[in-house]
Amino acid sequence: MITIIPIPAFADNYIWTLREGGNAVVVDPGEAGPVLAYLDREGLALTAILATHHHNDHVGGIPALVARYGVPVFGPARESIPERTQALGEGDEIDVPGLPLRLRAMDIPGHTSGHIAYFGDVSGTPSVFCGDTLFAAGCGRIFEGTPQQMWASLSSLAALPPDTRVYCGHEYTLANIRFALAVEPDSAHLRDRQAREQAKRDRGEPTLPSTIGEERLTNPFLRAPVPGVRKAASAHAGGTLAADVETFAALRAWKNAF
Ligand SMILES: [Zn+2]
Repeated sequence: MITIIPIPAFADNYIWTLREGGNAVVVDPGEAGPVLAYLDREGLALTAILATHHHNDHVGGIPALVARYGVPVFGPARESIPERTQALGEGDEIDVPGLPLRLRAMDIPGHTSGHIAYFGDVSGTPSVFCGDTLFAAGCGRIFEGTPQQMWASLSSLAALPPDTRVYCGHEYTLANIRFALAVEPDSAHLRDRQAREQAKRDRGEPTLPSTIGEERLTNPFLRAPVPGVRKAASAHAGGTLAADVETFAALRAWKNAF
């Protein structure tokens, strides 16, 4: 039975760690120190590293971890990832070293131009590790790609099974919900979610993982086709938005200035 735990890093990053027996695999180790401390404390050996994109707060710890453990590093083919040994793109499947786990890579460009996600069945539960593309109730900023790319990437994540657990890279949930409520102020789903996530934070717990089903109900960036969302985005943009991607781009611009 693989368990997944978040190792906090920096101010609000999570380094998702999959462990079974004496083995562990980390996703997006932006710094090595917290990972090494956790592995030592738990008596675990690192067996692989998975990277979603090239930003330093996701890959900065890789060289020190490789220096100590000499493990394979999986990462996007179209980005420069330190110590990468296996380059992945859409549809590539990997047997994760050290764990009974097969994952499939998905190309999800937009936040960065070569960003990938890892999707698979983790001990019976569909799970996706999506870096800085889909967040709980939000999405990443579009630094390198286009709104069209980001919308397509988010749509492919939204098409995963509703019970898929969403493991993203940052604890941004409460701030994202505040924006989501500006877009859909009358959403009972959002009010309910806000109360549940606030209670988790009050207990010192992560709000993650989320699920794809919950994101479809409450994440404005997956909801561009919803008439009320389109209406709110149009009103804020001062015009009538037609296509889903136009609504999505207006929402992203709105959030950037929120
Ligand atoms: Zn990033």
